[in-house]
Amino acid sequence: MPGDGKRSLDERITSAQKLPGDEGFEESLRPYFLSEYIGQARVKENLAVYIEAARMRKEPMDHVLLSGPPGLGKTTLAHVIANELGVGIRVTSGPAIERAGDLVAILTSLEDRDILFIDEIHRLNRTCEEALYPAMEDFVFDWVSGKGPSARTYRIKIPRFTLVGATTRQGLLTSPLRDRFGINLRLEYYSCDELLQVVLRSSRILKIPVDEEGAREIASRSRGTPRVANRLLRRVRDYAEVRKDGRITREVAREALDLLEIDEAGLDKLDQEILRTIAYKYGGGPVGLATVAAALSEDPETIEYVYEPYLLQLGFLERTARGRVITPLGLKHLGSNPARPAQGGLFPQA
Ligand code: ADP
Repeated sequence: MPGDGKRSLDERITSAQKLPGDEGFEESLRPYFLSEYIGQARVKENLAVYIEAARMRKEPMDHVLLSGPPGLGKTTLAHVIANELGVGIRVTSGPAIERAGDLVAILTSLEDRDILFIDEIHRLNRTCEEALYPAMEDFVFDWVSGKGPSARTYRIKIPRFTLVGATTRQGLLTSPLRDRFGINLRLEYYSCDELLQVVLRSSRILKIPVDEEGAREIASRSRGTPRVANRLLRRVRDYAEVRKDGRITREVAREALDLLEIDEAGLDKLDQEILRTIAYKYGGGPVGLATVAAALSEDPETIEYVYEPYLLQLGFLERTARGRVITPLGLKHLGSNPARPAQGGLFPQA
């Protein structure tokens, strides 16, 4: 587990991971049907066909694997699939299923054609993963009773179901598991226009007065992630209500987000610190991940999987065989956010 990294994972307002305050709030903002689900056009197009086909045949839909960074709408999409199919959904996660007994209890409690959603499916342990194979293929569960030579296997029939697995790390899935998903969909970061739609939709539901420019300001700093957009909207609302007349305009959004130290590209202090470390401490790179992590007292895995994906997406950073390199675009961005003077690096502060 990330040591120091855990702290920032838990506390960053820009974190794409779920934070404690998000719970009920996210529930109320979740789209129910494909038509309300913003963005991810290719994914929706594919799903619409599979859903329609399954509905027509009155058969369970093929198993679906959803992959992509946290906060992009994998859990939401699993619920949308269930709603569109008109079936029930059971939600669990890889680490929550500890024993084969847990799995059989869940599987036998499903109704015909229900969805079983397993979040973080890459964290399912080996025994449970293997027990899942016959369940996915033939809707049976091989229950082993007893140990050693007296052990006996009973084959239990389970209801026909659709497994929707979600993962942030598709590379960690074993190929036998990955191959058993008939549908494999990858969610992408959202564009600013799509996030604008997310912010406008959420403000309609929450009855927050926001004009389009205000919403766009929030969208553009939301790291391509609806979860972050919704969280920033909530924080900006607080600011608008306490310090202003409650309306979110561009100016109000800017002031609130500046106060939260989220810059115009959606980077927080830690993201900026990573860029600055590479640019000024290590002459722009290449510099090894472990070195960057040590310089920031962060966990390398946290840097790699939590911070870097968005910096790569923005084109501010590159991963090369010899290490991390800051790009001219990244340097330009730092130049427009001169929070700290250069510390003798090769690169001037643009
Ligand atoms: P994940 O499971 O990928 O971590 P979630 O499905 O929990 O992400 O999504 C986080 C929040 O973002 C949801 O509660 C929902 O309000 C919002 N959201 C996600 N995707 C969309 C979308 N396509 N349209 C509108 N809101 C979305």
